[in-house]
Amino acid sequence: MKQDIQVFDNVLELIGRTPLIKLNRMTEDFEGDFYAKVEAFNPGHSSKDRIALHIIEEAERQGILTPGDTIIETTSGNTGFSIAMVSIIKGYECILAVSSKSSADKIDMLKSMGAQVYVCPANVSADDSRSYYQVAKRLHNEIKGSIYINQYFNQLNIDAHYNTTGPEIWTQTEKQITHLVACSGTGGTISGIAKYLKEKNPSIKIIGVDAFGSVLKKYHETREFDDKEIYPYRIEGLGKNLIPTATDFDLIDKFVKVTDEESAHTAREIAKNEGLFVGYTSGAAMQALKQLEEAGEFKKGDKVVVVFPDHGSRYMSKVYSDKWMEEQGFFDSKTIASEKIQYV
Ligand code: PMP
Repeated sequence: MKQDIQVFDNVLELIGRTPLIKLNRMTEDFEGDFYAKVEAFNPGHSSKDRIALHIIEEAERQGILTPGDTIIETTSGNTGFSIAMVSIIKGYECILAVSSKSSADKIDMLKSMGAQVYVCPANVSADDSRSYYQVAKRLHNEIKGSIYINQYFNQLNIDAHYNTTGPEIWTQTEKQITHLVACSGTGGTISGIAKYLKEKNPSIKIIGVDAFGSVLKKYHETREFDDKEIYPYRIEGLGKNLIPTATDFDLIDKFVKVTDEESAHTAREIAKNEGLFVGYTSGAAMQALKQLEEAGEFKKGDKVVVVFPDHGSRYMSKVYSDKWMEEQGFFDSKTIASEKIQYV
């Protein structure tokens, strides 16, 4: 065991300081050394613990929040879980306005963490009074002493990663990092880490991962919003149909796009080859890394860090379900993993 055994006052003390873990089997034929920043080791099992804690503590420092007040956000995903967790420990009410597309499992998980959940119709426009954006805004206006996290448009999202994830990676790589590969959703993770690393060494390459069906890569290249880029895709948390102000596009050297299918298979490969049970976007980030290697991006001596944003347990009914993989057409039906199950 390399870690000291410690006692903590509460779960929030475990946020951050996640391990950097060398990728062995999956990169053995690649040029360079490859490491994963495994954010599933946060107590809420994702990188979003960092932003929930930072944004809430910043509001406390500014005197905007005092115990008993209310924290509002529009997400059924990782950020919702992290905000609910921080709210419990610090004594806040947590309200999450989510889309009716959210799975029952996700809604139950948020309720288990004490959040009050408003389920809003998915098939209405963002300016409809029933949309989760409008419901969150209305509640924020109505509830005195509430804050609206608004992660896509909140500069503190970048700051959280500038203050913690960036310095951790710099120290863990002994200042030797040459490339960072990270998914972009709100863009907080990649922008915050990039800002810190580029201040230390401007030649470090920052590579964003985007989804087919999202506008980010095209916007980075042209600085124009092209709605023709937008179509439905399956990976959650990666890419976007708008331009978030929590992304600093100037700090990103380039974007790579990945498919739903290859990312799903790559997530499963990470579990089987590295023993790391990580989420769908970790598969996306690793898939981007494979594409970059094929394109000759890396050379001997390079030290490459890829961010794995969350844990695989959140995807049991998706990427890690053979049934789901088959329904998406991601399997040829002969290769189902149930071959490994012996029914007695
Ligand atoms: N992966 C997952 C699973 C996420 O929920 C998110 C956040 N939307 C990301 C990656 C991207 O992180 P960021 O929002 O910091 O760009």
